[in-house]
Amino acid sequence: QSNSNLIRATLFPGDGIGPEIAESVRQRYAAVVLWAEGPLDKASLVEGKGKTGHILTSADSTCRTTLGIMIFKVAEVPIEWEEHYVGTEVDPRTNSFLTWESLESVRRNKVGLKGPMATPIGKGHRSLNLTLRKELNLYANVRPCYSLPGYKTRYDDVNLITIRENTEGEYSGLEHQVVRGVVESLKIITRQASLRVAEYAFHYAKTHGRERVSAIHKANIMQKTDGLFLKCCREVAEKYPEIKYEEVVIDNCCMMLVKNPALFDVLVMPNLYGDIISDLCAGLIGGLGLTPSCNIGEGGIALAEAVHGSAPDIAGKNLANPTALLLSSVSMLRHLEIHDKADRIQDAILKTIAEGKYRTGDLGGNATTTEFTNAICDHL
Ligand code: NAD
Repeated sequence: QSNSNLIRATLFPGDGIGPEIAESVRQRYAAVVLWAEGPLDKASLVEGKGKTGHILTSADSTCRTTLGIMIFKVAEVPIEWEEHYVGTEVDPRTNSFLTWESLESVRRNKVGLKGPMATPIGKGHRSLNLTLRKELNLYANVRPCYSLPGYKTRYDDVNLITIRENTEGEYSGLEHQVVRGVVESLKIITRQASLRVAEYAFHYAKTHGRERVSAIHKANIMQKTDGLFLKCCREVAEKYPEIKYEEVVIDNCCMMLVKNPALFDVLVMPNLYGDIISDLCAGLIGGLGLTPSCNIGEGGIALAEAVHGSAPDIAGKNLANPTALLLSSVSMLRHLEIHDKADRIQDAILKTIAEGKYRTGDLGGNATTTEFTNAICDHL
């Protein structure tokens, strides 16, 4: 049933806040109208009828992504989703609940959108996120963070990009017990991965009109690992004389970010620091419900996802803010150079937040995910 005018993208609805969708499905917002040919109006979606589409009825299906898809439909975005769910059994080929077919789908389509995937703390299966990053060689995670007009926080001039090395460092997954009571975790930094992410950061800065790249590190203590990371950043910096380059120790970076985020432009860093700093940056503009990201992989793969996790504390309550995932889908559209649709959806999201009538709880409002999504559709 594939339509040749549509671009195929992989969709991992994820889990955690995911079950929230059950509620959306129950309310008949679901209608993941994968093969609809005509434009869909909101009323037909609310009634659960796509004009010519296929209605997904499974109660455990999609999460906020469903709502996102609804927005894609209202905005008439030419995307055909290929959905893959996290499995119920460990796939021996990936050693995680992620199946090989799911990975193949991203390799084939080269673009995708992923919801959060939960990882048990301190036990259990290999992280699904780590599996994805490793298997697909998603070497850079780009996390834009900017103040949203009309939503007041302590700062109104945040405009940062954090670029996180995504495949090694402290997240190499190499931990073992030496003797009882003593464990060891290996932080791996390679020249190849460091050069690759540094090159991406400088190229990004150059092609996005950015002026400065700051390498964030702790090389005063981790002289070999972070030292190598910095060495690689310096090497790449020499090829981009038009971009200012600086090195900032991570603890000082945290202090500077909280005091005056305008001091930074593009930040590039090893894996763990990127994970922490990007959550800090999210806090500067209103929280995790707002910040998108995109994983960049070898061979032109782009897998967009929200920065946040599966939010078990609010899962199933129709309270989640879908903005982060929606803005991630916007970055996927920009990667595909579908800029007109990306602009339309982004404008509608920003207008809805600025208007202030429908805001989810994390932004101080009392709108449900569904009400907020409907308001975005109205703006579209
Ligand atoms: P989390 O990001 O899920 O939640 C942190 C806080 O932010 C919670 O209070 C949550 O309610 C809130 N929050 C997050 N997203 C929100 C949204 N869209 N709208 C409103 N509020 C939101 O972090 P956590 O609780 O530490 O992790 C939960 C699970 O998610 C863990 O299993 C973790 O491994 C996983 N995780 C996955 C990813 C990913 O898939 N990329 C990222 C981070 C964490």
